[in-house]
Amino acid sequence: MTEHEHVRVAVIGSGFGGLGAAVRLRREGVTDFVVLERAGSVGGTWRDNSYPGCACDVPSHLYSFSFAPNPDWPRSFSGQEHIRAYLEHVTDVFGLRPHLRLNSEVKVMTWDGERLRWVIETSSGTLSADIVVSATGPLSDPKVPDIPGIDTFPGKVFHSARWDHDYDLRGKRVAMIGTGASAAQIVPAIQPDVAKLTLFQRTPPWVMPRVDRAISGAERLLHRTLPVTAQLRRALLWGIRELQVQAFTKRPRELGLVEQVARRNLFRAVKDPELRARLTPDYRIGCKRILLSSTYYPALAQPNVDVVASGLGEIRGSTLVADDGSEAEVDAIVFGTGFHVTDMPIADRVVGVGGRTLAEAWAPGMKSLRGATAAGFPNWMTIIGPNTGLGNSSMILMIESQLNYMADYVRQLDVLGDRAALDARPAAVDAWNHRVQERMKRTVWSTGGCTSWYLDQNGVNTTVWPGTTTEFRGATRRVDLAEYDLLRAPAPAQPVPSGPSVRGTKKKAEAGA
Ligand code: NAP
Repeated sequence: MTEHEHVRVAVIGSGFGGLGAAVRLRREGVTDFVVLERAGSVGGTWRDNSYPGCACDVPSHLYSFSFAPNPDWPRSFSGQEHIRAYLEHVTDVFGLRPHLRLNSEVKVMTWDGERLRWVIETSSGTLSADIVVSATGPLSDPKVPDIPGIDTFPGKVFHSARWDHDYDLRGKRVAMIGTGASAAQIVPAIQPDVAKLTLFQRTPPWVMPRVDRAISGAERLLHRTLPVTAQLRRALLWGIRELQVQAFTKRPRELGLVEQVARRNLFRAVKDPELRARLTPDYRIGCKRILLSSTYYPALAQPNVDVVASGLGEIRGSTLVADDGSEAEVDAIVFGTGFHVTDMPIADRVVGVGGRTLAEAWAPGMKSLRGATAAGFPNWMTIIGPNTGLGNSSMILMIESQLNYMADYVRQLDVLGDRAALDARPAAVDAWNHRVQERMKRTVWSTGGCTSWYLDQNGVNTTVWPGTTTEFRGATRRVDLAEYDLLRAPAPAQPVPSGPSVRGTKKKAEAGA
């Protein structure tokens, strides 16, 4: 058998999740790990999304690692380039560069049940690992709808997350497809430059004003000299969102007040009643992600913008045909149509026990134990796994909870010895998901009267966490070994003891077993 390089842990992806995992592993004293990254630099979604106007709609003092505060955030909502620079900085400060394997795309990772390890084939070679931490993120693979006739379009086509900076949009007739968070930032950024902008809006979003401002030099100095002030700022931002989440998860009716603020935002910016009607949502606010923008509506009210209140249905040469039959001639199409979230391509590349892929296991719907592990995929865990997303707060809080779980998982495996693996018990996975889905019933994502990328093809919400970040923190503090089967491999050079074999068989896990 060919011997590969072997590591204790292979982390996949170098966005917030992967870099956070790397920092945490080092802090746990684990240095035998690699971070596999398909691109040539770190940053994940904050590297790939470089479209004009790209910024975060969670304040930076909350949208950053608690263990790597940045007193110098320039604005309350930082732009993509600052967040990307922050992640490069984290990579340097925490000494992660030696662990990075850039330009190493994972082609397939296969569970070796004999040796209890993952064999990982990448574009730069093969290695194996005792544990895989998959931090590929839900917003990494762009989704472009299969529009009939797209091949006949003679102009430029690209997705928001693959912006072609060499293509000059100035003076062009541009179609923007979609009205999600990406489109809402792109539209005001490009509207002044293009000759004509046609927005294909299948569903109008709810848009709240964005209260963004530069963080003054005095504030930054204060945060630098008295770090506790930055901590307080973060705590305040977190606390407000923690209180808000109850309205999303338990009392959606309370969101009516928020709808009034969003309606006023629309009325202030758009005077034409017919356009206003087209832009007014007919579902409860929060059901789809709420957009924050004070420039989106004003841009749509400009004379060079046309809002088509219908999805893009067909393309005939340079003519785009909406589902309602209206047509627009354009030079370029920008797809702001989101990502493969509930059908992540990486799932096809994870081959677990018995040769079953994660995509096959998740075909009826994504399911995991505590957002991390999946039955039949021993010693494999994901960061931002099923039902760990948030509707209103910082994903970094959820990522750090998952890092706690990962750290305890590695610790417990160490105690069990290096020839052991843990496989989530199907009953534990089902019990966790039952609890999550029971709580989901009351949430605005289920009752709000919309469809969204939070829901899978069966209409089940397999992406969002239906509680507070504090509750998730509590649920991921420790790995409960009773929720796992313990797999043991015999030591290679040892004579096989008489009695029942434990090779490749499952035992209910017990500490120190
Ligand atoms: P998205 O929210 O999934 O939006 C995709 C949009 O494409 C939707 O409006 C969808 O319409 C539309 N669409 C799909 N097919 C269409 C068709 N044939 N014709 C017309 N419209 C079509 O994607 P996203 O905007 O890239 O955002 C994804 C997530 O990334 C966000 O929810 C957020 O979590 C994150 N993000 C955050 C920020 C930020 O922090 N500011 C910025 C960008 C992205 P329907 O609504 O009818 O389905």
